[in-house]
Parts: sequence; structure tokens; C-alpha cells
Amino acid sequence: MQKLTGTALNSGIFIGRAIHISLPEPEIETGKIEPEDVSREINRLQNSLIAVEEEINQELHSSKLPPNEAEIISAQREILYDPEIYKQLLSAIQNKLHFATQAVADCFTNIINHFDTLKVETFAVRAADYRDVQMRLLNALSGVKNTLQHRLEKDQIPVLKEIVPSLVSKLAQQGIMAYLVAKGSYNSHSSILSRALGLVAIANIPDLLETVKDDDLIIVDGYSGSLFINPDKATLDLYKQKTERERIKQEKLRQLQLSDSKTATGIKIKLLTNIGVLDELEIIKDLSCEGIGLFRTEFLYLGKQNLPSEEEQFTVYKELAEKMNPMPVTIRTFDLGGDKLAPLSSEKQEENPYLGNRGIRFSLSRPDIFSPQVRAILRASVFGKVQIMFPMIIDAEDFRKAKKFVQNCQQELSVQGIAFSQEIPLGAMIEIPSAALCSEELARECDFLSIGTNDLVQYTLAADRNNESVTSYYIQHHPSVLGLIKQTVKSAKKYQTPLSVCGEMASHPQYIPLLIGMGITELSVNPGSFWIAKSIVQKCDDRLFALTENLDFVTPIYIVEHLINIDLKSYYANREE
Ligand code: PEP
Ligand code: MG
Repeated sequence: MQKLTGTALNSGIFIGRAIHISLPEPEIETGKIEPEDVSREINRLQNSLIAVEEEINQELHSSKLPPNEAEIISAQREILYDPEIYKQLLSAIQNKLHFATQAVADCFTNIINHFDTLKVETFAVRAADYRDVQMRLLNALSGVKNTLQHRLEKDQIPVLKEIVPSLVSKLAQQGIMAYLVAKGSYNSHSSILSRALGLVAIANIPDLLETVKDDDLIIVDGYSGSLFINPDKATLDLYKQKTERERIKQEKLRQLQLSDSKTATGIKIKLLTNIGVLDELEIIKDLSCEGIGLFRTEFLYLGKQNLPSEEEQFTVYKELAEKMNPMPVTIRTFDLGGDKLAPLSSEKQEENPYLGNRGIRFSLSRPDIFSPQVRAILRASVFGKVQIMFPMIIDAEDFRKAKKFVQNCQQELSVQGIAFSQEIPLGAMIEIPSAALCSEELARECDFLSIGTNDLVQYTLAADRNNESVTSYYIQHHPSVLGLIKQTVKSAKKYQTPLSVCGEMASHPQYIPLLIGMGITELSVNPGSFWIAKSIVQKCDDRLFALTENLDFVTPIYIVEHLINIDLKSYYANREE
């Protein structure tokens, strides 16, 4: 038995047989064409563009593709018909007398290399889309019909050097459940597609291609990011048991659906969900959630060249509001910059984007971007119970500026005779320490508040949330963080301002009792953590309130290990090595 480790792209366990798959390498014709062959090559180019468009259309119409993947794929159609790229391709054929294949290879490689030199995750994601379009065009030019040459069996696990979004959807269409890839990252479009299509996958595995042979028996552990090659009997049995346990656990959690979200002593805890794409509405409709506590609008930008227009946004927000009605939907305005998607590709790079023009600061500095978003939300507000939340607010003055902006948009809509809700609640995220420290004034002025612990922890402890080398400093239950949360709870209570926690702490079984003990009564959790969160809420009791009076390093651990009789072991069982 051998074990390799990489980056888990999607949780789950799958056991099957390996099969190596390589992306076709189409021939690139070199040398110069004769001037009289120019029109032939232009014809070839145009035919390949039509063929790829048809291929993309077919994928878009495939029933297995939910709307969000469709967006990732349809963004490739925009690349295909980018006028600038087409001009370059024509010029390479007409002026440099290149074959169509070489024109495509050179033009796209230049763009991909340019993105790669920027060394920013967002551009790496874009580069992969251009690579996919390049591959599709080269295949079409050389008559290769399909990126996936093989007919695969459902129990096979494809092993690849790299993967592109179009191949992920083809794998899913063939009923494949898991794959392994030597390169790749968690945030690539291929990974996003894999998660949405429910494929268990591990990427970024050194020595994968040399170590795994065709037909090897493989266990893919999408919890730990490990794969076992030709496992011994004990490991295989263990994983078979884990798979069964996972099934039973899911079943038990589903039974929770009918029960109330109250603590053991009857305190009502409102459970909301965090979502980023409309597809997730499908998932949350089976949860007994009481609304959306955080809709991350940045995802509307993912896979696109430009930020979505007012109309595009209106369509999304309206659907969200209508489908959730009468439950509330909290739409957070764009939180661009920092670790998130770069505001726009043309934007100047900042030395320290985490402390730069991000979140609400960016939005206020770009009315051309902020106004269409606010107008779209306001217009959607007549179709349900919508509220607007601003990210990265530092104090009440910051909030006032955002509020004023919304009021101006409301006035504009009134003048234009466009309907919107006058009473839309406006709230602030508490995710910067200054906001927590100024929370009393914020609680007085805002209609609601929500604590974003992900950033609050990062900014309080000066520990980058995405930097693995400072993970040990990123302590979510650090007394300083808990102090800021407690201060915010106190301020919200004073003005009876609704307060939720929407950062990851709210989704984390270990921290839920702690938050409830500190007086939090609204949790906005990831859909995947909903059932476990509900079951933990039901085990909390009033002893927590006394315990969280004096918070130190030990109390949070004590609460979890001794006070709440939660079987965290079973929760973590499938995550252990
Ligand atoms: C947070 O910071 O806790 C939060 C919920 O927002 P995001 O993770 O999108 O930054
Ligand atoms: Mg945040």
C-alpha cells in the first residue's frame, strides 16, 4: 500500500480503479503558409470557432449542468468571441502567414503567460479558462472530436496531469464519481465545477503520475486529501466502514429537519444560511433554515470578464428574494479586493490589498460599480424580504456614508418611477476590530449587525486567514476575539439590534456553544454544516452563560469537551487520517 497526499477539492470518500487519462495534444503546424492559402486558414479558423461554440452550447444544454457551472462555461464563449483576440488571430494569419493552429497556440499562450506572471489567484483561474478555450480550438482545428477520448466505467478514477472545466463536466456526464490530478488548486473553476457536480477530487499531488498505475485499487479520501494505492485489507475495511458511517450520519441529520432550533433550555436560536450562488437555493430548500444571513455577491463576478450589469444583478436578486419569500435574504454588497476577487483586471495592484481599497471602501470609491448593485438590490426588494449588508465597515461614519449612498439611489429610482421598498433594512458587518469597538454607535444606527469572524480573527491577530504558515496564530477562540464579540453582543442588546454571526465560527461545531454562551441567538451557517449546527444548538443549556463570563484560553475547550455532551468524535471521524 502507498499513500499520497494533495489538496482535497471536495469532501467524500470513493473507492475505485485508477485509469490514466491525458488531454489530447493537437498538432501545431509551424512554418509559413503561402499568401494564397491565407483565406483557407481563415476559413479553418472560422469553422473551428463555430465548432467550439456548438460544443459549448451542447454542454450548456446538458441537463447535468446547473446554472452556475453554465456561467463558467458560457464565460468561455465570451473568450471565444473576444474581438481583440479575433483581431490578433487574423493578423497572425494575414501578416505573419501563420497556420491557424499556430495563430491560436501563440495568441492564447501569450495571454496565459501574461496572467501567470501576475501571480494572483484570480488571474490563475482566468488563465485556466483561456487554456481550455485554446485546447478546444486546437482540437477543432486538428479534427479531434472530444477532450475525453476514453469511454469510462463508473467505478473508474481518472488520473490526470491537469484538468480543465470542460473535462470536469464531461467526467460528470459519464457518471464518474472521483478523480485525481497532479496539478490544480482549490479555487480553480475546475474545482468549483467539481464541488457543484459532487465529484470527490484531490489535486496538487506530487508523484501522482509516476506512482499510480492503471487498474490500481484506489481509496480517494476527500476529507483529508489522501489517496491510498492498493490499500491493505485493514485500510480498505476501515474506509468501507467510513463510507457506511457517512451514509448513516447523513440519514440521522436529515431526521433533525422536523425538530425545533432551540437550546435544551428552550432558547430560540435562529439558524440562517450563507450562500454565494443561486444553485445553493436547491440545497437549502431541504433545510429548515429561516432565511439567508449572508449572500456573497462577489461570486456573481466569478467566471466573467466584467462585473455584472444592473439588469443581470436584478435578475439574480429578484429570484433570490422571490424563492426565499417570506424569509429574509441578506445581500452583502460586493466585497472585492483583499483576499477576494480583484476588483477589476485593469485596477492598479496594491502593495497591501488586505489593508487597501477593499469592501465598502472600494464600492464607495466606484459609484459606477456600486450604484448598479444598490439599484438592483432595491428593485429586487419589492419581490421579497431583502436587507442590505455592507462589508468592511470600520465605524458608524463609514456606515452613514453607505446609507447615504443607498438613499441617493432610492431618490433616483423614485424620480424614475421605478418600484423599490422604502423600508429596506441596512446593516453592517462587524469584521474589523474597530467596528466591534465602536459597536455601540453602530448598533444604535444600523437595522442589524452581523459578525464576520473570518476577517475579525484575521485583523485582530494580524494573521492572514489564507496563509498556512500563520495558521497557529489564527486562533478563533482567542480571548481578544471573544472580547470583541462580547462587546458587540452587549451593544446589540442595548439597542435591541438584531445580531448574527456569519463567519465560519458559526458553522463550526466547536464554537457554536461558545457563541450561544456569549449571548448570540442568530447563526448564519454554511449549508453543509446546517444539520450538525442544529443538533449542537439543541444540546446547549444555560450553564454556558455562566461559563462565558470570564473568557480565557481554557474555557472554550472545556465547554466542548466536558460540558456539552457532543459526540464530536463521530463528526470528525471521517476527517481523521
Ligand atoms: C467573514 O469575514 O467572516 C465573512 C463572513 O465574510 P467573508 O468570509 O466573505 O470575508
Ligand atoms: Mg469578511
